[in-house]
Amino acid sequence: MSSPATLRRAVFLDRDGTIAEETGYVNHLSRFCIFPFAAAAIRRLNDVELAVIVVTNQSGVARGFFPEEMVRRVHEKMTQVLAASGARVDGIYYCPHKTEDRCECRKPHPGMLERAAREHGLELPGSFLVSDRFADLDMGRAVGCRSVLVLTGYGRGEYEWNRTRWPQLPDHVAEDLTAAVDWILQEAR
Ligand SMILES: [Mg+2]
Ligand SMILES: [Zn+2]
Repeated sequence: MSSPATLRRAVFLDRDGTIAEETGYVNHLSRFCIFPFAAAAIRRLNDVELAVIVVTNQSGVARGFFPEEMVRRVHEKMTQVLAASGARVDGIYYCPHKTEDRCECRKPHPGMLERAAREHGLELPGSFLVSDRFADLDMGRAVGCRSVLVLTGYGRGEYEWNRTRWPQLPDHVAEDLTAAVDWILQEAR
């Protein structure tokens, strides 16, 4: 890539509703169901050397619904399932707080993106953010990422009922992560 430093571009992926079914609070491993198409989609990003970073709000920790250990186990399972299909994520960031904690990391604050950029040498402008929630896309916009809304999880309902109230539309709307990756690979060239 053309960047003078060795900064890489990234694709930031929301977890629930984007990589896996949106099942509400994932307070047990049995509630974490990765989409059957997720691994193949992520592998295509791996192949073109875009960094793949998962960013997820897990306020169930701050609310006392489950321990932080639960989040780690889910991510272990996610990593294993992806690896079994030859896919990998380069980093996983989660915010364990709730809104009232006023942290810097809870989406739509861009804290997780900025931290990932420092720790992985990423160039945020020109990177991409994919989520099933419109509010999540703001975190990417704030730092120059292009945004893709997927229609899995909450996406279809958000798009159908709320889009007339959005101050701006996502850069792209995709049926699911596979279609999001199709678009990203075209745009990232
Ligand atoms: Mg989501
Ligand atoms: Zn936080």
